[in-house]
Amino acid sequence: MYDIIIVGGGHAGSEAALATARMNKNTLLITGDINYIASMPCNPSIGGPAKGIVVREIDALGGEMGINADETQIQMRLLNHSKGPAVRALRSQSDKKLYPERMKNIILSQKNLTVVEAYVKSLVVDNNRIHGVQTQDGKIYASKAVILTTGTFLNSKVMIGSNKTSQGPENQKPSLGLSPQLERLGFTLSRLKTGTPPRVKRETVDFGKTQIQPGDSVHRYFSYYNKNNYDIDAQHPCYLTYTTEETHRIINNNLDKSSMYSGVVEGVGPRYCPSIEDKLVRFNDKPRHQIFLEPESQFTEDIYIQGFSTSMPHEVQEAMVASIPGLEQAQITKYAYAIEYDAIDARMLWPTLESKIVESLYFAGQINGTSGYEEAAGQGLLAGINAALKTDKKQPLILHRDEAYIGVLIDDLVTKGTIDPYRLLTSRAEHRLLLRDDNADTRLMEKGHAIGLISKERYRKYTDFHKQMHDLKMRFKNIELSPTPKVTDVLKTLNSTSLKDRVTFYDLIRRPEIKAIYAKHFDSTLDFPNEIFERVEIDIKYEGYINKARKHAEKLRQQEKITIPEDLNYEDVPNLANEAREKLKLIKPLTLGQANRISGVNPSDVSILSIYLKSNKNQNRVIR
Ligand SMILES: Cc1cc2nc3c(=O)[nH]c(=O)nc-3n(C[C@H](O)[C@H](O)[C@H](O)COP(=O)(O)OP(=O)(O)OC[C@H]3O[C@@H](n4cnc5c(N)ncnc54)[C@H](O)[C@@H]3O)c2cc1C
Repeated sequence: MYDIIIVGGGHAGSEAALATARMNKNTLLITGDINYIASMPCNPSIGGPAKGIVVREIDALGGEMGINADETQIQMRLLNHSKGPAVRALRSQSDKKLYPERMKNIILSQKNLTVVEAYVKSLVVDNNRIHGVQTQDGKIYASKAVILTTGTFLNSKVMIGSNKTSQGPENQKPSLGLSPQLERLGFTLSRLKTGTPPRVKRETVDFGKTQIQPGDSVHRYFSYYNKNNYDIDAQHPCYLTYTTEETHRIINNNLDKSSMYSGVVEGVGPRYCPSIEDKLVRFNDKPRHQIFLEPESQFTEDIYIQGFSTSMPHEVQEAMVASIPGLEQAQITKYAYAIEYDAIDARMLWPTLESKIVESLYFAGQINGTSGYEEAAGQGLLAGINAALKTDKKQPLILHRDEAYIGVLIDDLVTKGTIDPYRLLTSRAEHRLLLRDDNADTRLMEKGHAIGLISKERYRKYTDFHKQMHDLKMRFKNIELSPTPKVTDVLKTLNSTSLKDRVTFYDLIRRPEIKAIYAKHFDSTLDFPNEIFERVEIDIKYEGYINKARKHAEKLRQQEKITIPEDLNYEDVPNLANEAREKLKLIKPLTLGQANRISGVNPSDVSILSIYLKSNKNQNRVIR
């Protein structure tokens, strides 16, 4: 008997399995192919806008993705560096061979974690409670909880042109048997779709016709306090090119051959990661589209054509590729394809990702309707943590929308659901100034430490780091500057204007042209790591905006404190609009704040509910 079984060793399953095993749960990971653990069937990169911040949040909570990305990257870049801190995000070009390899080794050497290579065909459920799983070879594995993370495999079909084959990604077997059982249990399934571009042979690309995109010239890390001092000069560049009029002519002339536009595809594709066909149809006024040529691995010849996913027949793909500057002679090493698969309606889950229908059955990753390695990993980590906490009868870990992008992601899924593959964007986070790339440790590391996923050693580094930040702020407050000729001269060299009155350096930083590191001009004894200066600079420069954002978040938090009994009978709440009553009965919001975010529940319904709750205050409250 295991404490927890995880089905699927993808990005969600890896984080879930490591979290439960590291929280001392006797864990079993059952996955279809051990050599496919944490595989990257799509873009060989981790991070980017919003996603990069999720990776840092995973790291701050004690997950593995951040460290794994740092240890297996072939290029690191901080995107939007020149813009405000709320939109900066790290992105690594990952080595597609090394990333899954390292994650597999971490998993295979993890204490409390057993790995079995098999396909799960059904769940063992009795009296609306999970008791384990059965694999295709008939074996039954018993457990107190199960986490399903089957990704893009559930009843999956691969499509190229008019061909449609029952197959998983990367020539893997599809996952059959679970979908019909989930429907019998009462889960609503939807059909989603995603796609991947062709790969070409590196030596057949004329990079001279493209724009080089090198890595950053300073060290960048996802993981807090883990520095491996990688060789900056050894980073592999990416390259920028564009589609041409000829590319658009070929695609438009063959649109009826694409699986997408010939009716072969049933699944709904990602709005924010469309195929090239979709881009031409939806943005037909655009003369060209950006294409990034990304190295997949230092050990293979493959170049990934980012932004060019398609489901056209092979011969059309060849013509499309040859029409792109730099790829005229390129040899395709892997053809593009689209894949459709089943996903559940995540509104049938609690914010812990436990299902409302079958107790102790959790869902995480692409099966919940998301798209992306990072979104999957964030869910896997929280599902793992909550399954472990539940087996210990401890309070769940629910991250609020003003605490983490992972909190925004999960709340959107379980409160609003999704009709197309959900991808995290900064625009989805109303508190994005609080949810920055730099401060995920401040927001989450205490929580990671409290649940036992952050080691003493890392926690000590965290407290040291923040003590240094505090000390530097105090030092800045003690550097008093007067409008003397000496100070004026220094400010001139820093392209800043002279002082009118006496100020502290803490105040001076608020000037846009003044960097924290400039304090050394006024106090040469300052000896702190660069990262401390950078973090303190953000805190001080944006202090006003951050405090305002925090006040706003606190106001919205008030509604999160008004809890709603899970078993409230909405038929008893008078004057609710029909649509609102229907949605409230389906989603069973745990707080008034969550009720307020349900589409179709209007402010008038929320006030009716609020009054009803006040007048029925003595109803007891169940914590899942
Ligand atoms: C072709 C393709 C293109 C993609 N394009 C994009 C994109 O453009 N942008 C983007 O953000 N994301 C894209 N993705 C999605 C990205 O790969 C996923 O978001 C991510 O891998 C999801 O992680 P996951 O852990 O949920 O599932 P997966 O990574 O799919 O892992 C699922 C795991 O479960 C195992 N498994 C499945 N069923 C069973 C079973 N019954 N029993 C045992 N083990 C099982 C599998 O072997 C696998 O290891 C694409 C994926 C594919 C396949």
